[in-house]
This record gives sequence, C-alpha cells and structure tokens, in this order.
Amino acid sequence: MTGKVYLVGSGPGGLDLMTFKAREVIDSADVILYDQLPGEEVINSLPDVEKVDVGKYGGKHTREQDEIENLMAEYALKGKNVVRLKGGDPFLFGRGGEEMEYLRAKGIEVETVPGITSGIAVPENVGIPVTHRTFASQVTFLTGHEDPTKPESAINWRWLAESPGTIVILMGVKNLPNITKSLIENGMDSDKPVAIIERGFRADQRVTTGKLSDIADIAKERGVRPPAIIVIGEVVSLYRE
Ligand code: SAH
Repeated sequence: MTGKVYLVGSGPGGLDLMTFKAREVIDSADVILYDQLPGEEVINSLPDVEKVDVGKYGGKHTREQDEIENLMAEYALKGKNVVRLKGGDPFLFGRGGEEMEYLRAKGIEVETVPGITSGIAVPENVGIPVTHRTFASQVTFLTGHEDPTKPESAINWRWLAESPGTIVILMGVKNLPNITKSLIENGMDSDKPVAIIERGFRADQRVTTGKLSDIADIAKERGVRPPAIIVIGEVVSLYRE
C-alpha cells in the first residue's frame, strides 16, 4: 500500500494559529519533513516519529527542492504517511503546487491542509490590514525572489507601480533596494509608506517603517533579515508602535 502525502500549512507561527486539521494530520504521520519557517514552538511540538529537516533559509538550501520531492515520494511508496510541514499556507509561495504536481505524476495521493498565511497575518499582527475601504481595495502578493533588474523578470513592474492598493512582498529582504528602485522608476510615489515586519509572531518580532524612497537604506542600517514581510501602501499608515 502506498502512503499518502499531506502538504500542511502550520500558520504564521505559534501553536495557537495552527488549524485542528493540521494538528490531527501531524499527530498521525509516520514521517515529517519540515523546515524552520513554522518556528520553534511548532517544531518542538512535533511527535516522536521520524523527522527530516529539509530546511531552506534565505536562499541557503539545506536540501534541494527535487531532493525534497524525491524524499516525499520515496517514503510514500514505502507505505508511510508523510507530512510536509510548511510555514503559513502551503500554496502561497510554498512550492506546494509543484510538490502536488510531482506527487500526482507518480500516482501518489496528496492532500493539502491550508494554513493562515504570513502574508496577511503578519501585517495584521501589527495593526496593518492588507485591504481597507478607504486605502486599498486590491492587494498583490509578490515574491521578492525576482530581481527586477533582470530583463526576464516574471513580474510586470510597470503594472505594479501603477496599480492602486497594497503590495505585500514575501522573501523580499535581499532584493529590497532593487524592488523599491524599480517601483519608483516605473512611476510609484516615492513617499508611499512601507513597513517591514521581521519574525512575525515570534518574541523578537520587529517592525521597521519608512517611505519607498528610504526604506531600503533604513532596512540596511537596522540589519533587517529574513523572514520578513514587506508591506507597501497607504494601509501602512494604520500602524501604531
Ligand atoms: N507559505 C508561506 C510563505 C513561504 S515563503 C506563507 O503562506 O506564509 C517564505 C517567506 O514567508 C519568508 O521569506 C517571509 O517573507 C514570509 N514569512 C513566513 N513566515 C513569516 C513570519 N512569521 N514573519 C515574517 N515573515 C514570514
């Protein structure tokens, strides 16, 4: 009998923001593949079964993506029920879609367990709503992995710079100088407020604010590091220290 693979979102951090379904699936798994994004509290709560840290952090890959996919398939083909535990939601920049495709192609059953995404919850935790009737009727989630200075960038920077509403960037710390430069060059107001929230929901959560024109310098001065969510837009004005 082939086992099943669960792609599980653990939420933005902490046990209280994980779903009951995630807990149930985790607690009945034979093998758990995890990385560090779910945070210590969740990782420390994992049951005493086989566990593999497949962590990738800020571009430093402990294990390559195809190796992770192989590993999931191997365990499932041995009859084990596998949990691939991910921070936030597995389908928002979590490679969940690719993993589902890979497993499907091998005829392995896959189930996804949604999680609260950091893209909404981390700003929310500091009083920043990603939409608001006065400030933003639209929100765009963006991966900051894309270097806007590359001509083959999959993101339409002009469209983005001209579009109203909020921009939420995940994995954007490293490219922040290029991102802000590109948005300004493409016509976005350089006074637009920006907030960066590092390590949301952790004890050492930290917020850095500025404008599109100076946030990259401020972030550098303060040594902002991933994981962090970057929010660009008028909704940032609702943030209070
Ligand atoms: N699937 C995840 C995102 C994975 S991409 C989700 O839905 O939340 C990894 C990026 O998520 C990080 O680089 C960071 O931008 C963001 N992130 C995840 N958890 C975070 C947290 N607790 N605090 C700040 N950023 C976080």
